[in-house]
Amino acid sequence: AKVSHIRNFSIIAHIDHGKSTLADRLLQFTGTVADRDMKEQFLDTMELERERGITIKLQAARMNYQANNGETYVLNLIDTPGHVDFSYEVSRSLIACEGALLVVDASQGVEAQTLANVYLALEHDLEIIPVLNKIDLPGAEPDRVKAEIEEVIGLDCSGAILASAKEGLGIPEILEAIVQGVPAPQNTTEDRLRALIFDSYYDSYRGVIVYFRVVDGKVSKGDRIRLMATGKEYDIDELGVLSPTQVQVEELHAGEVGYLAASIKAVEDARVGDTITLKAAPAEKPLPGYKEANPMVFCGMFPTDANQFPELREALERLKLNDAALSYEPETSSAMGFGFRCGFLGLLHMEIVQERLEREYDLDLIITAPSVVYRVVLNSGETITIDNPSTLPAANERQSIEEPYVQIDIITPETYVGTLMELCQTRRGVFKDMKYLTQSRTTLVYELPLAEVVTDFFDQMKTRSRGYASMEYHFLGYRSNDLVRLDIMINSDPVDALAMIVHRDKAYYVGRGLTEKLKELIPRHQFKVPIQAAIGSRIIASEHIPALRKDVLAKCYGGDISRKKKLLQKQAKGKKRMKSIGTVDVPQSAFMAVLKLD
Ligand code: GDP
Ligand code: MG
Repeated sequence: AKVSHIRNFSIIAHIDHGKSTLADRLLQFTGTVADRDMKEQFLDTMELERERGITIKLQAARMNYQANNGETYVLNLIDTPGHVDFSYEVSRSLIACEGALLVVDASQGVEAQTLANVYLALEHDLEIIPVLNKIDLPGAEPDRVKAEIEEVIGLDCSGAILASAKEGLGIPEILEAIVQGVPAPQNTTEDRLRALIFDSYYDSYRGVIVYFRVVDGKVSKGDRIRLMATGKEYDIDELGVLSPTQVQVEELHAGEVGYLAASIKAVEDARVGDTITLKAAPAEKPLPGYKEANPMVFCGMFPTDANQFPELREALERLKLNDAALSYEPETSSAMGFGFRCGFLGLLHMEIVQERLEREYDLDLIITAPSVVYRVVLNSGETITIDNPSTLPAANERQSIEEPYVQIDIITPETYVGTLMELCQTRRGVFKDMKYLTQSRTTLVYELPLAEVVTDFFDQMKTRSRGYASMEYHFLGYRSNDLVRLDIMINSDPVDALAMIVHRDKAYYVGRGLTEKLKELIPRHQFKVPIQAAIGSRIIASEHIPALRKDVLAKCYGGDISRKKKLLQKQAKGKKRMKSIGTVDVPQSAFMAVLKLD
């Protein structure tokens, strides 16, 4: 395609505002996907994404569109993930584009994620085309939402397109606006090759499939390429475009979007944000902005059945092939046995990995509560990082502890401002700003320890605002605080997998809440089970689970055969998610008890 007839764009939207549905309509209208092949939401390919209705992985699609002026254009849609955990991937896919559709639900309005992504797009000078979606809904108020976008983002909405992705309204107008409004890429075909990787996935036959945008120069099948961040070199076995299934081509030039396969072993070797150049004529400098995504949240994963340890290792190895941001290291816990300490970009990322391990690999896991990465200055002056609370050195061995802070931006209807401020305050938040976006919507800005955000903050925010508030966060840096390690003892044995790092001012509250919660969650045994929380050698809270009464047991084992069988089956199933700690069976839920304290 001629560079002047290429348009690269993405769709920016808050979750559920209709990005995937709109993408489907664009593919259909341009005949890229035949109606009969149209599954709901073609772009969300992972089963998990489909179930949760969120876009996790970036995908791209190329469409041919004959515009009203009679010319045919190539439109490359680059999809972005809709969750804060993946904001770096969002930024990489945006810089592969010259424009973006800003899709806002006309019955809702601007949300935190919309704003965060719009700011990213503006930062990279993208042309933004506002689209008000869901105008078929009786509650749609396009005029109010237009005014909101103008006020909040400062974007002219006089030409905003009214659309219903569901009913196919406004689709031709959107396609025309892309052709007219989004600039063509720069024609730098004569320069040395620089192509930006915006996504990759592992294919067991061809190795890693790399999705990229050619920024300068051109690339052909058979070329020897170099990845500028890793310095690794490969020969291109396969080159193609996504229409939206992979179709091979011989050459791609500046402005075009495509994929390549080059027998790359793991996605780690072809990271999002890296620049591809040619070995024979390498570019001088890579494209700006590359960074490695660092895990921010850690947890322990232990097979309930110790024999499954090798299977867990293999499953993690395989997931890692496809997930550069996932990290894992073997961990030995005195309470839990052998397992892995795993690192993730954020909570959603963590949940996705856990679910895939259990679903696709059929593993039964005990997962410990999420923790962040602390920086500890030892007496010697040396600084170490700790992602596992049980390894925090004793108070007399360290000078200070620092923890990561994030800025969170919440957008909420005014009614919930009070309860959300209270939530932030109980989470050690530092108030920064409050602004009225419109007459009824407010933005709240707080700085919070990341540790307080990873423990259930998002769900609390949703509950307190009845689902109406939305949030976005980004990393600020490390700050020193008075933090202590809280140890939990079950039946007098310290359980390392339950240890956590808390602020001294909250230790008593957390210790008491946790012992009470554990008392509820751990089943009764034939003996009394004491549960205690301690800081160092000082017990700060204690509870006990009374022994099981004899007659309860008797009841269990009475009854007819089939009922007994059922009961045994049920027990066997329940048992899967238990871990024996000493002589006490502890269920999975107990390890997450800390998330349920509020
Ligand atoms: P995404 O999270 O932004 O990708 O949103 P989806 O495309 O998954 O849409 C979220 C929900 O809104 C789905 O139930 C869609 O069927 C629905 N939806 C999308 N577009 C429209 C629309 O124009 N009108 C109505 N009434 N519903 C829509
Ligand atoms: Mg979607």
